Amino acid sequence: MQRQLKRTFIGVLAVTLCALTAPVQAQNKVLNLYSARHYQTDEALYSNFEKQTGIKINRIEATDEAIIERIKSEGKYSPADVILLVDAARVWKVQSEGLLAPVKSKELEQRIPAELRAKDDGQGSEWFAFSIRARAIFYNKVKVKPQDIADYQDLADPKFKGKVCTRSGAHPYMLSLWSSLINHLGEIQAEQVIKGIKDNLARDPKGGDTDQLKAVAAGECTVALSNTYYWVRLLRSDKPEDIAIVNKVGMIWPNQKTTGAHINISAGGMLKNAPNKEAAIQFLEYLASEQAQAYFANGNNEWPVVKSVVIKNPELDSLGKFKADPLAIQAIAARTVDAQKILDRVGYK
Ligand code: FE
Repeated sequence: MQRQLKRTFIGVLAVTLCALTAPVQAQNKVLNLYSARHYQTDEALYSNFEKQTGIKINRIEATDEAIIERIKSEGKYSPADVILLVDAARVWKVQSEGLLAPVKSKELEQRIPAELRAKDDGQGSEWFAFSIRARAIFYNKVKVKPQDIADYQDLADPKFKGKVCTRSGAHPYMLSLWSSLINHLGEIQAEQVIKGIKDNLARDPKGGDTDQLKAVAAGECTVALSNTYYWVRLLRSDKPEDIAIVNKVGMIWPNQKTTGAHINISAGGMLKNAPNKEAAIQFLEYLASEQAQAYFANGNNEWPVVKSVVIKNPELDSLGKFKADPLAIQAIAARTVDAQKILDRVGYK
């Protein structure tokens, strides 16, 4: 009797296990995405992919640095298939540390301009930029005249003493900008500019880019730096508090008579130890598709990397044409360590 009970129990257990494992097998197409993109509107970008392919995206979101550290500590057992970052220097770092895999996709090669993707000579590993953003200067329209400021270097002018707001000087968006200044001006002059900006700060660096725009509108500072898509997000908002900010703040394209406005990218690649390589390539190709590229422009107010994509975003268009700094991504990446050393020397947190 006892033996029969035991057999029945084992039988039930076997049936239960089958029932548990069957659906897992049926939907075993997954993609593990480690992303530093932090934009709520990206939900549609991911859910469209899931709907189109039946591949479920498991997403981990953190800062660029935290993601890179996590992948390194997970080592060859890392479940990460695709990494998406929001800074050129960081994506270059991931590649130079040997974490990326070759992708070998004709579609990606054809759609993404050569300067916006990179193949590592040694390993053949690749990364791809999927969107472009610029770092612009914003000013309080009551307190500053647009002709008072033209270049990033002007933020260091003593006339702006106590009037500049920035986020942390060591944030990737800032580090890449500082690095571009080192490339253009040389280290000594770049340090003078960075120190000048730090000495002009209205408050200790805090918050994200939108917080700097709010501070300019509130008169806490009169000039600030922000990525363009945060500004366009406000331009498109119908919330009264956002409209109030837009009414008080103006934007300047920096360095138009010199080196051009500093631009950065959101970029990604497949990881060397990706367990789901096929899904990873499918996802990267999707990010360069008409639909996803249009999303970057129409959803998150960035510029697509695929030139033929039609943008239906009048507020983004309203920023107009501008001269972009053509500095190579590798050149920016190469000087971020020097930029950090300057920040440490001048005490720019
Ligand atoms: Fe951002």
